[in-house]
Amino acid sequence: MRTYFVGPWELSTATAILPATPAGGRVLLVESLGKGAAVPYHRKKLVLVLASLRHLVAELRAAGFEVDHRVAPSYAVGIREHIARFHPTEVLVAEPAEWGITQSIRALAAEMAAPGDGDGRPRAPVTIVPDRRMLVPRDWFADWAHGRKLLRMEDFYRLQRRRLDLLVDSSGDPVGGAWNLDADNRENARALAKHGVPDEPVSFAPDGVVQGVCLLVDGMPNHWGDTAGFDLPTSRAQALEALDDFITHRLADFGPFEDAMLEGRVYLYHSRLSAAMNVGLLHPREVVDAAVRAYDNGRGPVPLQSVEGFVRQIIGWREYVNGIYWTKMPAYRDVNYFGFTRALPQAYWDPDAIDLACVSDSVRMVRDTAYAHHIHRLMILANFATLVGVHPLRLSEWFWAGFADAFEWVELPNVIGMGTYGDGGTMSSKPYVSAAAYINRMSNYCSGCRYDPKLRDGPTACPFNYLYWTFLDDIRTRKLGVGQRMALVLKAIDKFPAAELAAMHASRTRFLETLAPDRTGWTFAADAG
Ligand code: FAD
Ligand code: SF4
Repeated sequence: MRTYFVGPWELSTATAILPATPAGGRVLLVESLGKGAAVPYHRKKLVLVLASLRHLVAELRAAGFEVDHRVAPSYAVGIREHIARFHPTEVLVAEPAEWGITQSIRALAAEMAAPGDGDGRPRAPVTIVPDRRMLVPRDWFADWAHGRKLLRMEDFYRLQRRRLDLLVDSSGDPVGGAWNLDADNRENARALAKHGVPDEPVSFAPDGVVQGVCLLVDGMPNHWGDTAGFDLPTSRAQALEALDDFITHRLADFGPFEDAMLEGRVYLYHSRLSAAMNVGLLHPREVVDAAVRAYDNGRGPVPLQSVEGFVRQIIGWREYVNGIYWTKMPAYRDVNYFGFTRALPQAYWDPDAIDLACVSDSVRMVRDTAYAHHIHRLMILANFATLVGVHPLRLSEWFWAGFADAFEWVELPNVIGMGTYGDGGTMSSKPYVSAAAYINRMSNYCSGCRYDPKLRDGPTACPFNYLYWTFLDDIRTRKLGVGQRMALVLKAIDKFPAAELAAMHASRTRFLETLAPDRTGWTFAADAG
């Protein structure tokens, strides 16, 4: 009998490769101790993965499937132990979602295919088949990327709109006349406060399975955050409810307010669906179809600017970063365009270790919820790390550990390509850095901060200002290419009085001396498990 291995990236019947009927084969699910300990994952992330896996085991057994659910040092060892116990005719594995797991499964497949050496160890062919959890096959992306220097997301996205027949008319043109409606989607924090914030997303009280996993995870050393307040969906039924909750209550205002931030408000009009999608509780196709149905060609309750913006995040950004990851790995882990060497500041683990209100609140949010929306991630957390010169890989490790939705395939390109310009412009046509003006416009943090967002230098000047201008001055001095879009702002430095520029460099030096480096001692083993 055949075995179908189900990985932690496909934890539902919507995404897993499964036998068509219970008689068609066995199902194998492995809890990898090595994977869980490889990164100091946020405890809420561990609960998400383990509880979703255990819910799927129960669902499959209830549906009559024979399930081998085992704990093992790694996924590959779990499969090997399964082969020894059950002697399947073949083990099918969907393309794993991460580089390290892919390498170990490939090594296992090669070992199983090699002629026996008389050691009597049980063997079965291990076959890797295309996954069901993404919309764009890896070889499609590789063909598209071939020979291009700048892999523009916007070009990729337009092709996907046509390829997947989403929001296009019968001639293949975009519904509404434009591919991207972001020009209508840049409302600031004041507009958001005036408009009002929505209710919190639907919350799932821990059932017996989740409670059992929380107890287990609470006892695990060397992980960030805690399990208290865990309320993410961990079953297919809950994930569908979370999708419906977003479409009904928040999608309509998603577009205009997607970039705004308000202190103490975590989700605002965002979907909070990334964690459910990344463990496979939801399929991206059903998510975008639900959004398009809510638009219903202008007859639904949701405006096009919000539906288009949301669809772009999923068939554009999400698929695009997956394609980048598989095209650029493993070298992508080591790119470092600016040559940064700084360790991660301790403030990324401890929000009380820094007095910049926007950074401190964003870190607190991640520590408490294992979530922050994309502008906190890009324009506060990654922006600050870039301006102080943190090594991109150290920042990537923190993002991998900190978020419930973080898997290397999605966090690495976002951090390296978007957040830090570490790849020198493959993904982005300019570094995403900003001074305080942007944060002041898009959030209400500055009004409660001890620093002044309008001052470029002096004891109360916002550090984002002198860090930003000195970062650009370094680029100018080193004659580094950072794209045409930065030309104007680089030129602006010419007009700065030399004394002011020198004072800003001195302020930066003093500020950097106050930034304590990471004291956790936590280690990262990217390929383990
Ligand atoms: P929404 O704002 O409601 O967006 C809808 C969906 O679009 C998301 O659920 C997600 O699936 C998808 N999406 C949007 N933007 C991106 C993107 N840039 N890349 C991939 N998918 C996207 N996303 C992760 O899923 N895991 C990560 O580890 C991760 N790390 C990030 C690191 C940095 C530095 C940055 C800038 C972004 C990162 N993102 C990551 C992308 C994005 O911030 C999150 O997907 C989003 O904030 C999740 O919240 P949400 O579900 O409420 O998303
Ligand atoms: Fe952040 Fe500067 Fe505003 Fe303070 S003043 S919240 S540090 S941008």
